[in-house]
Amino acid sequence: MKSKTDHEVIVVGAGVSGIYQIKLLTDLGFDAIVLEGDSDLGGTWYRNRYPGCRFDSESYTYGYSFSKEVLEEWHWKERFSPQPETLRYLNFVVEKFSLRSYMRFNARVKSMRWIEDLRHWCLNLDNGDVVTTRFVISGMGVLSAPTLPKYDGMNEFVGPSFHTYYWPKEPVELEGKRVAVIGTGATGIQVISAIADKVGSLTVFQRRPNWTTPLNNSLISEEEMAVIKARYDEIFANCSESPNGFEHRPDRRGFWNLTKEERTKLWNELYKTSGFAISAANFPEIFFEEEANKEMSDFIAERIRERVKDSRVAEKLIPKDHGFATQRLPLETNYFEVYNRDNVSLVDASEEPIERITAKGIQTCDSHYDFDLIIYATGFDAITGAYEKVDVQGVDEMSLKRKWEDQPNTYFGLSTSDFPNMFMIAGPQGIAGSTNFPRAIEVGVEWITDLLVFARDKGYTRLDVQSEGEKEWHEKIVVAHERLLSRNSKGWFTGYNSNVEGREEGKVRYHAYFGGVPSYRKSIRQAATEGYKFFDMS
Ligand code: NAP
Repeated sequence: MKSKTDHEVIVVGAGVSGIYQIKLLTDLGFDAIVLEGDSDLGGTWYRNRYPGCRFDSESYTYGYSFSKEVLEEWHWKERFSPQPETLRYLNFVVEKFSLRSYMRFNARVKSMRWIEDLRHWCLNLDNGDVVTTRFVISGMGVLSAPTLPKYDGMNEFVGPSFHTYYWPKEPVELEGKRVAVIGTGATGIQVISAIADKVGSLTVFQRRPNWTTPLNNSLISEEEMAVIKARYDEIFANCSESPNGFEHRPDRRGFWNLTKEERTKLWNELYKTSGFAISAANFPEIFFEEEANKEMSDFIAERIRERVKDSRVAEKLIPKDHGFATQRLPLETNYFEVYNRDNVSLVDASEEPIERITAKGIQTCDSHYDFDLIIYATGFDAITGAYEKVDVQGVDEMSLKRKWEDQPNTYFGLSTSDFPNMFMIAGPQGIAGSTNFPRAIEVGVEWITDLLVFARDKGYTRLDVQSEGEKEWHEKIVVAHERLLSRNSKGWFTGYNSNVEGREEGKVRYHAYFGGVPSYRKSIRQAATEGYKFFDMS
């Protein structure tokens, strides 16, 4: 074991959060590097190369806010940027500030151990390297541990098959192919819409439908971009004041103060507006009151019935087990029209479960379907999954996986007790999973950086949050969670994932803080001005 500490700070992950974190640390003179498991930067936007992959956030609210020069120089081409453009954007930022020289690629962290005597972390990489650091900051992301179903025969299929997260870099032959997509979350909805007119035939295996509404994407002209650039200060101020980090503001006229016609008028307008306006600029009551939510759900169900010609298929695409926007709302582009095509069919995998994958395709309880390509759009072990893939051992060899087995517990999603000097930019119980991601991570990165500067100024080399801090934060998480109708939903917000043991229905894991960005920011800033109470520092 090395007694010298190699670095002051190691950031794990060169995605959106890792890039901003290394920028701030190196600006402040910290000896810091980034370790990235993939062969290049970008994280989520490096990995998810499936057709149709793009933001659900307005591009100009998703970009970093920290650099006037970047804001001035970068021209977003589409209101909701597609993956290749977003990856180019991240590369642009990294090149502009010469951050690549701090990044080590193909350097996946396999395990991390806290060495008390030396007050440092010892990281083992899967390339065999061992590296030590005083502080470690996770930028591992919230949706970076993809999960596959556990069907027998998955290795027997002779054609290509992969999870959307691992969509190959090389072009995938779609023309004339018989393609299966399993899963209809945000990813499935995007990929299905993008490939339906490019494949020979498309069969969608849907276990539960999701509510989904139009993205209404469009190109951004030079003139529009000039207006956006002139408005950036206002845009970011709006985002920082809104609960979800978007410009949209909730309609607070009072659901029950209006007539049904007045409510429907707003919903008709929102259905034609772009992005998350349909939820974020809606009446807040739809998230808290069953009756209000039911009326909104009925409105959207009617839109689905209008758009899908076969009424039997339309009914299958309308969720019956959860209300509108009580799970993460996917946004779509011509999704429902896909089911009017002759080459597309829908298999209701709740009525006709998949039994196994065969060499030639998919066997359900009723039929065998032949395919050339199987696409698994089956989601992620969200929020905590990335941490479980690394063997993290804190004080007295305590395992992080074991600590969070039943329930993650953290202080603001930024640190967790008995894991000294370890910080998480988008950790469990923060806001990154439930809001416009960059707006949330900027808050976290800046807070962590300020704390490290505070420690450096005071000469502290060991920072550990007390479990009392976690308990206090947990109470706030539960209060925010219990108010929402989403508390009963089966989406990843509540920790559900049928492909991960122990994440079954009805067992809520408090994965995210749903109290909104302004309230979160207030809480963490207050903790900082109070001298980081709840932290033991020495
Ligand atoms: P997801 O929302 O968890 O959806 C996974 C889908 O796979 C669900 O339809 C699920 O059905 C199905 N599934 C899982 N296991 C299955 C099995 N064994 N058999 C049959 N079906 C199975 O995952 P996702 O679509 O990848 O989206 C995850 C998150 O990524 C999103 O919520 C969003 O936050 C983010 N995302 C964002 C964007 C964007 O910004 N535009 C795009 C894509 C993804 P059940 O519902 O029955 O479990």
